[in-house]
Amino acid sequence: MNLLVATNNPGKRAEFRQLLAELAHRLVFPADLGLALDVAETGGTYTENAVLKAHAFAAAARQRPATLPLLVLADDSGLEVDALDGAPGLHSARYTPGSDADRHTTLLRHLQGVPPAERTARFRCIIAIVTPADDLYTVEGICEGVIAATPAGDGGFGYDPVFFVPEYGLTMAQLPADVKNHISHRARAAQAALPILRRLLLD
Ligand code: IMP
Repeated sequence: MNLLVATNNPGKRAEFRQLLAELAHRLVFPADLGLALDVAETGGTYTENAVLKAHAFAAAARQRPATLPLLVLADDSGLEVDALDGAPGLHSARYTPGSDADRHTTLLRHLQGVPPAERTARFRCIIAIVTPADDLYTVEGICEGVIAATPAGDGGFGYDPVFFVPEYGLTMAQLPADVKNHISHRARAAQAALPILRRLLLD
C-alpha cells in the first residue's frame, strides 16, 4: 500500500518528503496520480478541514483503481496570534489576497505598536489519515513563537519570515530546513503520525 500525501502546497510537499523520509518508497503526491484537486476549506476547525481534504483526495483516488489501495494523509495548519485573539488561525491561507509576503505584511501591520512580550503566537497543524476501509486518525502538532517586528530569512514558506523562535534566536525562515523539520508544528504532528503510518503501511 502507498501513502498519498494530499497537498498541492510546494512548501508542505518538500517538508513532508523529509518528515516521512523513512517511508520514501511508499510516498506518492497528487501529481504522481494525475489528481488535480483544490478542496474548499469549508470546515469550522483545522481537524474538519484536514479530514475534508483527506476524504476528497481518497474519493478522487478511488476513480483511479490502479492506484489502490491507498492511505491518504492531509494536513491543515494555521498561525494563531494571541494579540489578535487567535487570528489569522483557520483563515491563515486567506488572511489577505495576494502572496505569502502580502499576508505577513498585513499581519505585521495589524500588530503595529504591540510590544514583543505581547506578540506571542503558535503554529498549529492537524494531520488526518484515512485508510482504504475509511478508518480515520487525526494528530496535532504545535510550535510556539513570537511574531517578529520585521521579516527575516528566505527559507520555508508562508508566515515563516515573521515567526521568531526564541530558543534559536532566529525566524523559522532563517532556520536550516532540518531544524524547522525537527521543531515545527508539522514536524510534531508528523512525529505523532509516524507510529500510525508504520503500523498501517508496514505491519
Ligand atoms: P493550509 O494548511 O493549506 O490551509 O495553510 C494555512 C496557512 O498557514 C497558509 O497560508 C500557509 O502559508 C500557512 N502555513 C502553514 N504551515 C506553515 C508553515 O510551516 N510555515 C509558515 N506558514 C505556514
